[in-house]
Amino acid sequence: MNVYDSNRMQDLMNACGYENTDNENDANMVIVNTCHIREKASEKLFSDLGRLQKIKDKKLSQNEEMIVVVAGCVAQAEGDEIFKRSKTPDIIVGPESYQTLPDLLGKVLRHKTRQMNLEFVANEKFDNLVAPRAGLNASAFVTVQEGCDKFCTFCVVPYTRGSEYCRDVKQVYDEVLRNAENGVKEIYLLGQNVNAYKSKDENGNDFSLAKLIEKIAGIKEIQRIRYTTSHPRDMNDDLINAHRDIDKLMPFLHLPVQSGSNNILQAMNRKHQREDYFKIIDKLRNVRPDIALSSDFIVGFPGETKNDFYDTIDLVEKIGFTQCYSFKYSPRQGTPSADSKQQILEEEKDERLAILQKLLTKQQTNFNQQFEGRTVKVLFEKEAPKSVQKSQKILNENLENANFARQLWGKSEWLQSVIVDVENDQNIEKYFGKIFEVKITKARPSSLVAKIL
Ligand code: SF4
Repeated sequence: MNVYDSNRMQDLMNACGYENTDNENDANMVIVNTCHIREKASEKLFSDLGRLQKIKDKKLSQNEEMIVVVAGCVAQAEGDEIFKRSKTPDIIVGPESYQTLPDLLGKVLRHKTRQMNLEFVANEKFDNLVAPRAGLNASAFVTVQEGCDKFCTFCVVPYTRGSEYCRDVKQVYDEVLRNAENGVKEIYLLGQNVNAYKSKDENGNDFSLAKLIEKIAGIKEIQRIRYTTSHPRDMNDDLINAHRDIDKLMPFLHLPVQSGSNNILQAMNRKHQREDYFKIIDKLRNVRPDIALSSDFIVGFPGETKNDFYDTIDLVEKIGFTQCYSFKYSPRQGTPSADSKQQILEEEKDERLAILQKLLTKQQTNFNQQFEGRTVKVLFEKEAPKSVQKSQKILNENLENANFARQLWGKSEWLQSVIVDVENDQNIEKYFGKIFEVKITKARPSSLVAKIL
């Protein structure tokens, strides 16, 4: 979601006449878009601000300007404290109020005073965003829902993103349409609780996420649809059946369970039990047997006993995941579990995380190995990052005739990274944004190597 928000802020600034640069020394404006879910998020912010201040000082000495903006959930949570602790930022703006950036910027430039806006007015934000730029990637994010009313005891999102808000069907549809016109082939529908999506179209008809996906699937240019992140409590039969009925909906689901222990799920205030999770997965596999599953896990939540932890291992063994995110519990200030007296020792958390990650890696590797020799469809998006690095090195060292294979990067329907060697093809861009059938020649733990057929 922060990637989506960063792109929208770029669009707003582009409309004000700013251009993007990869080099912060060239920048007249830097927006630090922060994520409070990250551990030590505010320490990281202040260390970034210290680094930016040096560039800002240098620019000032050359009579140049550099406006620094702190955006995102750390801005929302810390607010004025950021101004008190650091002289670097000129603007502080929350994740629900960044549409006002041009206005805040105008005030900073005109009045030479620092500006802050932390209001929660999600509908106003979406009404005031500018259209996505042309020349985007093959894939695009579109936020359909924001905020959360679920208050899991470890999570800051309900405090930083506010309560659940869903965008109008027409607004979402129009944004997807504009992306499609710009060459986008794959849409990720985003929300903190995306499957809680409930809205209406312009005729007053009710729309669930499943119905929204069905409508978007009607846009010819859009060939793939994904959604993230879902909550088990909102995984209804409509959405499960959409995986059977809508071809463009990819066979992949990220459904965080967090723990396999009912005691811990209760302490986390997840309001679902492990049995509910098994039921959902059974239903999904019934309608779409090849669906790939991903999840989030927190190990060492306060009060987690060894038995609780082995309930998580048991759940992972029974379900079989294809890729997951797993972390040690770390307290977030202001959340109920941060004050628990039953914190687990770090060494114990390390040990548990290592056991879990070993199992998850084994499952991911086994899943990928099943693809060796198979033919799959891949949407190619760009040159593989390592291939780009290599070509830059060759360019820098002026090795004109250096012979190295350029590599394409794309995604399978099951969200695996797929790498294809395209020899020394100078026109690698011709593959971008297109779906090709490829034969998988080698499976790695986190990617597949393939040949275009
Ligand atoms: S449902 Fe997700 S976003 Fe909401 S409180 Fe729980 S973990 Fe946070």
